[in-house]
Amino acid sequence: MSAHHHQIIIAGGGTGGIMTAAQLVKKSKEQLDIAIIDPSEVHIYQPAYTLVGAGAFKMADTIRSEKKLIPKGCKWIKDEVISLDPDDHSVTTLNNGTISYDFLVVAPGVVNDLSMVEGLEEAMRRPEVCSNYIDPEKTWEVVQKFKGGNALYTQSTTPIKCGGAPQKAMYLGEDHFQKNPELRKNSNVIYAFPGTVIFGVQEFKERLLEIVDERNLILKHRHRLFKIDPEHQIAYYTYPTDFEYQSLTRNDDHNKAGAVEEDGIIQIHYDMMHLAPPMRPPDFLMNSKLALQEGGLKGYCNVDKHTLQSPHYPNVFGLGDAMGIPAAKTGAAIRKQTPVLVDHLLAEIKKRTSELSYDGYSSCPIVTGYGKMLLCEFDYDNKRQSDPFLSKIFDTTKDSWPMWILKKYGLPYLYWNQMMKGRM
Ligand SMILES: Cc1cc2nc3c(=O)[nH]c(=O)nc-3n(C[C@H](O)[C@H](O)[C@H](O)COP(=O)(O)OP(=O)(O)OC[C@H]3O[C@@H](n4cnc5c(N)ncnc54)[C@H](O)[C@@H]3O)c2cc1C
Repeated sequence: MSAHHHQIIIAGGGTGGIMTAAQLVKKSKEQLDIAIIDPSEVHIYQPAYTLVGAGAFKMADTIRSEKKLIPKGCKWIKDEVISLDPDDHSVTTLNNGTISYDFLVVAPGVVNDLSMVEGLEEAMRRPEVCSNYIDPEKTWEVVQKFKGGNALYTQSTTPIKCGGAPQKAMYLGEDHFQKNPELRKNSNVIYAFPGTVIFGVQEFKERLLEIVDERNLILKHRHRLFKIDPEHQIAYYTYPTDFEYQSLTRNDDHNKAGAVEEDGIIQIHYDMMHLAPPMRPPDFLMNSKLALQEGGLKGYCNVDKHTLQSPHYPNVFGLGDAMGIPAAKTGAAIRKQTPVLVDHLLAEIKKRTSELSYDGYSSCPIVTGYGKMLLCEFDYDNKRQSDPFLSKIFDTTKDSWPMWILKKYGLPYLYWNQMMKGRM
């Protein structure tokens, strides 16, 4: 092994990178030469950001030292990948030059790109605008300071991490507003989003719509955010004008939210706004030959959706948020992707075949209020895939307190002590 060659390079030591390294070490009978390249000193348990944004989890408890998570026997190269050359089997880094590999695992996650929505960068600096994706502690401040009017929860049109997170923020925010009945009476809680339905899986959609109606939340679907006017606190959306505008709203028959419609553009005034910003893969991936060159997921890493192997470079694999596959971008999805990727990679080394296949499993723990959570588990076909063991004990089509306990205590414990250690 030379400093400039490793048998396996893992680009990105977040959820997917560390889980892959840990399982490779555990599952390989022989010592592997694995290097993880990641510039970050810290590793963050991002799923708890939703709770931090509601004052129900300490920010400090979401953060651990990256160094301590690097599995024994693996090398951490604290550096940034700046380009990939799959024909040359090498990556180039900012400070360590070019490093070659026998096998590459691409796991750099996605980045927020505020420049993709006009006015967003300035809006994020304002005291009434927040995002659990950027600064969840600010979200909690903004929610506590809200004095009534329009509380707008929204998101951009790009794929986002944990697609359920924007609505989780809304349920928690609204639950907090209810503590002051006068404030709640004087507020419209609005969720404006680009999708056609609140959730793609029938059983969970039904329960979520019940909650939306019980709590008089305003839904505005097919709303494509493109601009924010931070000074006047207005969010601008396009919508498909072949629909009558009213048909795209729920619980807003009399336009309480005061949406202004003109020439196919909707304006919604906000008194506070929470949003999921636009996201995309990092530049080094988008600019490489490993990226999809066309289609809706252009720029994301091109891997087979069942084997997580590159179709053009058999020594390249990838997992997590930066993949160009139609899976939800969650840690839960990565938990199921990792053993498949690891088995296919070890099979490639050993010149055997692997039968393992990733079916698109993901889970989205939708926190519906303080003390309540609906565990939505599903696959590529948007078919419900609730855990058989949990479903024997609980009705997993309903939000419940035991699931909240799972979200607040169980899942963080499993993440740090099992998933990061390659045990599940
Ligand atoms: C608000 C919020 C709520 C969420 N809720 C849930 C939830 O309830 N359940 C759930 O399962 N998931 C949830 N997620 C999603 C989950 O956290 C992600 O899907 C998961 O962390 C993605 O893992 P990853 O390895 O692809 O990327 P990440 O974990 O983001 O790691 C990427 C790593 O790559 C590194 N990197 C980036 N660029 C480079 C480079 N150029 N060179 C080298 N390294 C680089 C980064 O430093 C980082 O360490 C949530 C996320 C957020 C933000």
